[in-house]
Amino acid sequence: MTTIRIRFPQGEFAALRQRLLSDPTQESFALLFGQCHQVGDQTLIKVVGVCHPAAEDYDSQGLAHLRLKRDYVYARLVEMQQRGDVDTLIDVHTHPFSSHGVAFSGVDDRDEITFRQWLTGTLDNIHYASIVLSQSDYAARLWASDGERAVAQPVVIKTQTVLENWPCADAPAALAAPLAALDPQQGFLARSVLALGLDNLRRMTHDQCIAIVGVGGLGSVIAENLVHSGFHHLQLIDHDHVEMTNLNRIVGAYARDAEAKRLKVEVVSEHLAQINPNARIDAHPCGINDECLLPALAQADWIVLATDNHASRFQTQAIALRFGIPLLSVGTNISVSDGQITDMSGEVIIARAGDKLCLNCLGRVAPTQIAAESIDGLGAELARRGYVSGRDVKEPAVKTLNAMLGALAVDALVNQYIERQPHVPVLVYENNGLPCLYPDTESVAQRRKDCFHCG
Ligand SMILES: [Zn+2]
Ligand SMILES: [Zn+2]
Repeated sequence: MTTIRIRFPQGEFAALRQRLLSDPTQESFALLFGQCHQVGDQTLIKVVGVCHPAAEDYDSQGLAHLRLKRDYVYARLVEMQQRGDVDTLIDVHTHPFSSHGVAFSGVDDRDEITFRQWLTGTLDNIHYASIVLSQSDYAARLWASDGERAVAQPVVIKTQTVLENWPCADAPAALAAPLAALDPQQGFLARSVLALGLDNLRRMTHDQCIAIVGVGGLGSVIAENLVHSGFHHLQLIDHDHVEMTNLNRIVGAYARDAEAKRLKVEVVSEHLAQINPNARIDAHPCGINDECLLPALAQADWIVLATDNHASRFQTQAIALRFGIPLLSVGTNISVSDGQITDMSGEVIIARAGDKLCLNCLGRVAPTQIAAESIDGLGAELARRGYVSGRDVKEPAVKTLNAMLGALAVDALVNQYIERQPHVPVLVYENNGLPCLYPDTESVAQRRKDCFHCG
């Protein structure tokens, strides 16, 4: 399995294909700016800019060839250096005559090797990748050096949603063999297939990794729902141990686990493995600041955020934004005053890279709270002054609310694979007066538009 990925922001890969392939009579070109992250043995390139040359920027353009003017290429390199946040160039061109099974030509090889030689001789520490598009699939590669020789390493393109993606011409036909789980008679997902359809279930079960940060009352319900929904690879992240007071809500945790103070990730993964022994469940008993988590998070197709403190929520989102991975955040709230529930509610936020929306600009993480939780001693001081609630306050929690939000979160995630309903960035559940569910369009409309984090 290849470990080099190019990640596109929401909608950008589809827009690129549509624009470049709109003219079937001639090859077209685009230049992408990227940020390269090396995480363990994975290379992750996040696309941060797309440049389309104008007609006059081409020296020549035909059905099976194209040549750009040197000035255009130089101008983009200058632009790249002025931006200062780009270390990767990705060159994209089309083979409009090729309907599928696209491959780089000998001319492509020669041109790219020459260009890369010039590029690496001109600028330091620049990575160079390329993509070729047919009418229905793509091939992609990252150039590297093997001594004097340039070698092309295969690259997989990741889009925010699987629905936006295209097949990789180099990938083995993995979808050809259906999983036993999808067998219409005996598969454990047979009834799900009846509900959602085989193609949708294939998309969800194949090659998708979901990371869950926080596997307490909310995260454990989400994890269970994900496995029941057919997801086959989960990363569970939580450094906490099971306590007696958790047993009113953690799915898969038993009294003996609390007595033994077992790790939440261990307890929950055992539970999930019993539901689907073929699922791969990786347990990470670490805090979100632990560097060793990065490889697990970097390979995730979605990061589900289910912790209840601002510092870890902020940190998790920062990782998602850095790697360009879509984030699904879930939260609950129960307020009690004078023995009466004054609010029981929760929300699901979906923030895909490129959506220009995040927990910060939505006002869902408070800087003072982050500081209180991150800096020793400061929390107590701020709490004393009334800025934040005390760190050690035990929040009220009930399973029913967690179960509602956990199910809503996974339903919203599944919708990203099947698009049965329109995308809703913020979905709120309120269990006050009468229970109700609504898209929070107001928060989205009133978010800070000049957000430093997701802009
Ligand atoms: Zn070509
Ligand atoms: Zn933002």
